[in-house]
Amino acid sequence: METIIAASRNADKIREIEAITERFGMKVISRDDAGLPKDEVEENGTTFEENSYIKAKAIWDISHKTTIADDSGLEVEYLDGAPGLYSARFAGDDCNYARNNEKLLSLMEGVPYEDRKARFVTVITMIFEDGEVLVARGECYGHIAEKTLGEGGFGYDPVFVPDGYEESFAEMGTDAKNRISHRAKALERLTELLSERK
Ligand code: IMP
Repeated sequence: METIIAASRNADKIREIEAITERFGMKVISRDDAGLPKDEVEENGTTFEENSYIKAKAIWDISHKTTIADDSGLEVEYLDGAPGLYSARFAGDDCNYARNNEKLLSLMEGVPYEDRKARFVTVITMIFEDGEVLVARGECYGHIAEKTLGEGGFGYDPVFVPDGYEESFAEMGTDAKNRISHRAKALERLTELLSERK
């Protein structure tokens, strides 16, 4: 079985990716389990594509093994795409999920429903041993709620209501979210791309 090294240290993400790649005979291990140095890579790209590539390439450069990385975030139309690439650290240095959501809701205060459109984006980049690159993008459209809704999930889940639903990602439960999320769609796209490979 081929081994893929994941840039992520998040066990849930690694499990999610492996559920897809194992169908193609590929096992996923974290960079730490692969014994790679713990240096952090600077995510200085200007798109999710660039940042996920930077993360995958940093590991490929030191391992020359097949690598996989992802980058995600929330884009709000009224805020010209913010928080976007800065989703994780939107509220500044000592931010956390609650502060990020507070900042977002205060910027959206009084904005009417039709102007609250948003999307989550995930881009997964895979670089094979021979340098071949696959890029899979997934998007999930919805709108920003007027207040936090629900306790589940993480990040911006309590303020994001996906199209076609009344509940936020935080209210709908992980299984329902994972069927329609940006990450699920990126993984579906990755499945297609892997199937198309010779
Ligand atoms: P990452 O690139 O997957 O680490 O995501 C960066 C940031 O985007 C996270 O810290 C969250 O703030 C936000 N984010 C990404 N995916 C989700 C999601 O599914 N729900 C809520 N927030 C998310």
